[in-house]
Amino acid sequence: SHAQHDEAAQELERRERIFATAQERYYEHPPQIERGWRHHLVDTTGRSYVDMVNNVAGLGHGHPGVAAAANRQLKTLATNSRFLFRDLAEYSERLIALMPEGSGLDTVLLVNSGSEAVDLGIRLAQAATGRRTVVALREAYHGWTMASDAVTTSAYDNPHALETRPDWVHIADVPNPFRGTYRGQDTAGRYLADLAADLDGLVADGREPAAFLCESVLGNAGGVLLPDGYLAGAYELVRARGGLCIADEVQVGFGRMGSTFWGFEQSGVVPDIVTIAKPMGNGFPIGGVITSKRIADALSSQGQFFSSAGGSTLSSSVGLAVLDAMVEDDLQRNALEVGRHLADALRALAERHPLIGPVHGEGLYLGLELVRDRETMEPADAEAAAICERMRELGVIVLTTSERSNVLKIKPPLCLTIESADHVVAMLDRVLTDGW
Ligand code: PMP
Repeated sequence: SHAQHDEAAQELERRERIFATAQERYYEHPPQIERGWRHHLVDTTGRSYVDMVNNVAGLGHGHPGVAAAANRQLKTLATNSRFLFRDLAEYSERLIALMPEGSGLDTVLLVNSGSEAVDLGIRLAQAATGRRTVVALREAYHGWTMASDAVTTSAYDNPHALETRPDWVHIADVPNPFRGTYRGQDTAGRYLADLAADLDGLVADGREPAAFLCESVLGNAGGVLLPDGYLAGAYELVRARGGLCIADEVQVGFGRMGSTFWGFEQSGVVPDIVTIAKPMGNGFPIGGVITSKRIADALSSQGQFFSSAGGSTLSSSVGLAVLDAMVEDDLQRNALEVGRHLADALRALAERHPLIGPVHGEGLYLGLELVRDRETMEPADAEAAAICERMRELGVIVLTTSERSNVLKIKPPLCLTIESADHVVAMLDRVLTDGW
């Protein structure tokens, strides 16, 4: 109704008045969301939407087990990791147990967000190697703090990113096998030759790499899987020059890929430092770094480490409840099955709609790349934005990602059902058929 539309408009005006201009927002006319349940959202008009983008609410919105744990803990004790309490050690052990056996990733540091985790991961690498230079890939997003922003190279997030990184950041080419410098699954060798040249150049300049940092699957590009052999080769090149390998698993880790719990497992590698966050708290802010004791202990050279809320009683009990629910609800398996079904349906849709280019990703991290021409890969960015607006009218929250804003990102709560996935595909078919 008009009254309800006015309410959302008023809320928007109120927000815009006091928010920084740089603060990101979705939609021209955003709905006012009031409630969430599993993979559904409900707005103030009572309208419901299938949520295809919230990868923070991994278990689904309104998870009762997490709410109960938070409630119980808030009534019991609020203290921090300087004190001794059972949930902290229990949570840390459970996180470490998620790492591959024999990986040596046996030590955890708890913080409150992905940006903090990346920031700390960089600090750890610099402390452990006594070096400064960090090699990051183009088109990446890693966070907003000074250090995590420094390795953020995406022109979507900052049009001047490539020219304005600080001197300790080296930007390497992004091995995107669909629209990168080299195309196809057999391109790892060529990307690696370029990376080796980059690394040798750094060494020759006396800028030996402290670390190589990337998402194990290119999340910001819409879930683009790395060319076969790239990550293993890159890790080898970096380690041969004394650098450490940091896997940013904030988006692609934690069961979302379906076939593996971590993105790096897709490439059969073991990082030295893993950064995690988003789904850890299902909406409650939790982040972490998992590494080896040797690397973690190097932080002592920089004094003490403490985060007031990282690893607090509340954070630990919520984190444990999330891990319990992931197992109880069998969410990694659901991500695999529903993700496979959804990817197949989207690829079938591509046969009838030339605007759909490659379908990226695996599990419930998928990206539908929209292109005006499959040969030139000209990005259909305006079309993508309009399609998202129309999908919202049809009750589906799906949004764009990538440097070119032409990839529909599909990273819903992991409890997405086959029925809802089919509904989303049907709505997308309708929009692509009828126009937007
Ligand atoms: N790393 C990656 C890969 C991310 O996608 C994000 C958030 N989009 C971050 C780090 C930063 O996480 P946060 O927003 O929790 O600080």
